Amino acid sequence: MPDFTRHKHPVLAVPCGECRAAAGAWCKRPSGHRAADLHLCRRMAADRTFVTQHGADATIRYDADLGRWQVEAVETCAPAVS
Ligand SMILES: [Zn+2]
Repeated sequence: MPDFTRHKHPVLAVPCGECRAAAGAWCKRPSGHRAADLHLCRRMAADRTFVTQHGADATIRYDADLGRWQVEAVETCAPAVS
């Protein structure tokens, strides 16, 4: 199961279907050089995988204090705060 919190960028959790970069590796240009940005199809695949894994309402953000990414799931059955 891809871990969206362990890489420098969450999208790196999934491999790229366009340039065939493995999970954890940055996208490559056809020349073999590092691409400036991650490929769109990889970002979309990562989105779909993230939603399947964590739910449509979950978000991921970088926690500078911890120095790592954190998945924030929405507590759908949390008691209402009054
Ligand atoms: Zn790519």
